[in-house]
This record gives sequence, C-alpha cells and structure tokens, in this order.
Amino acid sequence: MDSKDQLETAIAARRDDLIALTQDLIRIPTLNPPGQNYREICDYLKQRLEAAGFTVDLIRATGALADSETYQRWNMVARYEGGAAGDTVHFNSHHDVVEVGHGWTKPPFGGVLEDGRIYGRGACDMKGGLAASIIAAEAFIATYPKFAGAIEISATADEESGGFGGVAYLAEQGRFDPARVQHVIIPEPLQKDRICLGHRGVWWAQVETKGRIAHGSMPFLGDSAISHMGAVLAEIETHLLPLLAGKTTAMPVVPPQARQSTLNINSIHGGEAEQAEDYTGLPAPCVADRCRIVIDRRFLIEEDIAAVKAELTDMLEQIKASRPRFDYEISDLFEVQPSMTDENSPLVQSVGQAIERVLAQKAEYVVSPGTYDQKHIDRIGRLKNCIAYGPGILELAHQPDEWVGVDDMADSALVMALTLAELLPTA
Ligand SMILES: [Zn+2]
Repeated sequence: MDSKDQLETAIAARRDDLIALTQDLIRIPTLNPPGQNYREICDYLKQRLEAAGFTVDLIRATGALADSETYQRWNMVARYEGGAAGDTVHFNSHHDVVEVGHGWTKPPFGGVLEDGRIYGRGACDMKGGLAASIIAAEAFIATYPKFAGAIEISATADEESGGFGGVAYLAEQGRFDPARVQHVIIPEPLQKDRICLGHRGVWWAQVETKGRIAHGSMPFLGDSAISHMGAVLAEIETHLLPLLAGKTTAMPVVPPQARQSTLNINSIHGGEAEQAEDYTGLPAPCVADRCRIVIDRRFLIEEDIAAVKAELTDMLEQIKASRPRFDYEISDLFEVQPSMTDENSPLVQSVGQAIERVLAQKAEYVVSPGTYDQKHIDRIGRLKNCIAYGPGILELAHQPDEWVGVDDMADSALVMALTLAELLPTA
C-alpha cells in the first residue's frame, strides 16, 4: 500500500473516535469572553495526548491581558519525538469559542450528530480542526512509528480576543522559535481544499475633532466638533475610499472584494454623552465640543504602515489648511503587520500536494481579510512557515447552528497526515 492508502485506512479506522473527540471538545463550553473552562479543556487534551505518547505541558499565561485568578488563561502544548532527528511540525488550534447568540435550533454545547454534521458553538471554529489534527497525528504515528522529527499539537487561549493570553504568550516564551519549530499549521475553518497563506494588516485609530461648547440656541457662539467631523467623513467618502479601492495586491484575499485596502468607521460619538437607560429626562442643548470616530484600516503587504498612517494625517492636514478653526487629534489603538507565507515553501508545497492526492483537485491559495494567530507566530516568533489549513466552512463561524462535516474533517485529517509523511521522513 502507498502512504495515502495506509493513512486513509488508519483514519477511517478512527472515524468514531474523531466524532466522539469533536463532541467532547464542543461539550466543554470555553466561552470567551470571559474565558471559561480553559483549564478543563486543557486537562482533557492532556489526558488524551499523554495516552497517545505525547509529553504535555500546561502553561498559564500569567499576567497576560485578561488573565486573572477567576479566569486563568490556560494553554496546552504536546510534543511527540520521532525516532530520529528532523523538523518539527506544529498544529496550533485555539480552544476558545465566541458567545452563543440567538437563533439556535440545536443545543449549542450538545455536540449533536445529525446527517454527517456535528453541531455546536466552536464546531467549525475550530474544535473540528483541533480534533482532525489530533486524529491525523495519531494515525501518522501509528502507521510510521519510526519517523524522523517531531510533532507538536497546541490548544491555545483567547484567539477570539487577540491571542495575547495564548499564542502571543507562547511565542514570547520561545515556543515558536524557528530553531525549535519549522512548520506551523493552524486548522482554522478555511475549507479542506484551500490553503490560507496569511492575512492583511490592521491599523485601528481614533480620530477626534475639537470644537467649543456653547448654548444650543446660539450655536454661532460655539464651534461644532460634529460639523468638523462631517467634513472629515465627506473627505473620506469622496477621496480616501476611492484611493484605497484603487490599490492592487498580489495577495489572493478572499472574498475578492477584500483584495484591496479597506477602511471601516467602527463608531462615531459626538456631543453630549448618551444617558443611562434609567434616565427619564430630556437631553440638554449644547454645541458639541468633541467628536470621535474609530477607524479600522486594513492594509496590504505592498503597503507600509507608516505610509498608511501618513495618508490619513495628510488628509486631515489638508482639511485643516482650508477649514477655519479645524483641529484634530489621532490616537493609535492597535496595529498588526500583514503576513504571507511563501507559496514555494516546503510546507505549502506539501499541503498542496496532499490536497491534490486526497481531493483530486488543485489546492486554492487564499489570504484572509482579517487576522488570526499567525500574526504572533510571524512577528513575535519570527517563524515564517505558517499557514491556516482546516475543515469547516468559514462563513459558518460565529453563526447560530454552527456545524462541521464529519467527511470534511476526515478528508482534512488525511491531508494533514500526508503532509506529516512528506515533511517528516518515514523510511
Ligand atoms: Zn477561529
């Protein structure tokens, strides 16, 4: 039998186990925020992977953002050493899930199996991917016990809220040092025939316009910050957005509408603060002396973040030059550099070949419009060979009645196992 047949048989033999493992993981509600049951899911995985011969570390991100005595940020890292020296392939999954929300017809933490689909919050994003990577590793180890190199599996906290108590913390501890780990696969739900090479960059900033408070019946005695912000919004609409739409990229971002620079205005607040819901009175008549927007600018690998920031500042300076009494302030909130792994890297090539062998079709290379934990592996870990590859349909993530298909998990587990056979010599 060739490697594909052998691994296919090994994974088919573990189909019930794959289902049960996915259901067990869904039944531990690891809601984030605030970060519930992180220790429970790490303990569960430790037991499972130790039984499979892995050495397991449980690591609390003590002192990281959101870590507290009540909500401790626990992470699990498991390692299996092969019979000889070689590369390390690391599968990284986040174990946290987002809130349930409304509109479910299935129990959100029930792990119900129906018509080949497993339902639950986190089924597709990304406990199905985590289960697939565990089954892939176990099937590979059982088939080729003397392989060269090492396999790591991690389950990490807080991806849904920035990853600071998860992958960022582990990267700071050297867990993604290229001397230690050579290839990283993140089984996020990108669909079993697609390889996600990376993501666009992010810059969040607050822009404030300033005015002068006065009585609302005599607005001419004040200076409205809301009017000034109106000028900013008009300039964004008429000049900045068309400019951004004209920027082209070599990044194969999906959906294709995101294959350019984009800017969203996340919020706007101006004038008197909104009152609490139990306030029963009227607002007071005042000219707004402050108005603030929060912008979410997504940028391309061809762009430089300093130039991205200068573009906005230049626009505001131009308004200032032509508009009397206009004054503003920009504050940086958050930034992430774009990341894109080389298509010709051994990792991408191996996964691409495995997809062709399993699905009899060419792999599609994509880039994510938003970011995920790859940002920390790239920037803090300085590890470039990182992709997202996993089962599940991206559009189902964070939706009611989220599900993952059992066949999709089995197929992507086979792709992962074949990738291991390619990167870790088995002869
Ligand atoms: Zn995810």
